[in-house]
Amino acid sequence: MQTNFTAEQLADPHVATSEKILRKCVHCGFCTATCPTYVTLGNELDSPRGRIYLIKDMLENGRPADAEVVTHIDRCLSCLSCVTTCPSGVDYMHLVDHARMHIEATYKRPLRDRLTRGLLAAVLPHPGRFRLALRAAALGRPFAGLLKRFKPLEPFGAMLDLAPRRVPKAAKSAEPGTHPASGTRRGRVAILTGCAQPVLKPEINEATISLLTRFGIEVVAPAGEVCCGSLVHHMGREEAALEAARRNVDVWLEEIEREGLDAIIVTASGCGTTIKDYGFMLRLDLAYAGKAARVSALAKDVTEYLATLDLPPQEAKGLTVAYHSACSMQHGQKITTLPKTLLKTAGFAVRDPAEGHLCCGSAGTYNILQPAISQKLKARKVRNIEATKPDLIATGNIGCITQIATGTEIPILHTVELLDWAYGGKKPAALS
Ligand code: SF4
Ligand code: SF4
Repeated sequence: MQTNFTAEQLADPHVATSEKILRKCVHCGFCTATCPTYVTLGNELDSPRGRIYLIKDMLENGRPADAEVVTHIDRCLSCLSCVTTCPSGVDYMHLVDHARMHIEATYKRPLRDRLTRGLLAAVLPHPGRFRLALRAAALGRPFAGLLKRFKPLEPFGAMLDLAPRRVPKAAKSAEPGTHPASGTRRGRVAILTGCAQPVLKPEINEATISLLTRFGIEVVAPAGEVCCGSLVHHMGREEAALEAARRNVDVWLEEIEREGLDAIIVTASGCGTTIKDYGFMLRLDLAYAGKAARVSALAKDVTEYLATLDLPPQEAKGLTVAYHSACSMQHGQKITTLPKTLLKTAGFAVRDPAEGHLCCGSAGTYNILQPAISQKLKARKVRNIEATKPDLIATGNIGCITQIATGTEIPILHTVELLDWAYGGKKPAALS
């Protein structure tokens, strides 16, 4: 694609990066067919190609974002299905990240949007605040339907719908500390404790620690870790995201220098995609660029690390698992077959639902901010999963677990919970 930026505009490193991305797009439109919002809404401006044109026009003309651009960029799930499809290697992820920063800097959202986004950014990344909010949501649940009837209150209704009926107690696995390896130590890793996940489903990191330590890996949860920053990053609040990234980089580097780390284990693929991108996010910060790149290189989804441990084949369990590949897993991190191979080796029969490339509609805070599109995508995803007639569903991202669980009675678990059980750990409560 031809671009017309001035030398002055290109002096801005963000614009220079976006210009390189834009020049790779050849308008072929292959990406439209695999874009969940285009498939759902049928509007070119809700396709990757349409959004690329809107972003190009806004940046080239040095214009502040307007309501039209904001509408179509806000509808983008950042699922990155278009990145997988694009034959020209267009890095849509960093382009839309830049567009979101530009929107945040130049567009004044209506009061309702500002309040909702401000509330999400102030609560979700902080486990203590999030736990309190979930307890309050449990009381407000009966009013979800009423709130959803009034457009301005729709996001609050969606929040109540997603809140669990019972909030688990704070878990030991969410506290800083070292979990020693059983027997001879084969390796040492740090685990990202996370923000929303340990509050919603502490069993995920418990299963990870139990499985890794049983196979001789010491797991450390370093003090001082914070949310990976992806929630605010996807809202265009770049300073807050970079601050979170710097804090985590400092914490993990200290651990690397103290006793060494073989990997930084991430059990939520949404967070994994962001941490693997810390090197890019902090590339302009001379004090952190190198350190962040080092951390990104060590970040591994738990299934990537487990694949290096050669877990032995187990007897068939007689259970069929529909594997839902989170967008951040398949499109963001390009991890496609590994989790399924691990599940099969562990004795599960694995099925691939149709349209596996399409998002379930969770996408961070998307199911709260864009509830109507999110509901349609969830219904489509659940239909495809249920058509495989599974006994249970496995996936590697807490957002998808929360989203899909509200649309089906089939138990949905994190892949690592099933692997831990198959290799001698606790049977997941959902299967008891
Ligand atoms: S990230 Fe997903 S929703 Fe956004 S343009 Fe690409 S395919 Fe469409
Ligand atoms: S598939 Fe790639 S090159 Fe083709 S329109 Fe989409 S982003 Fe552009």
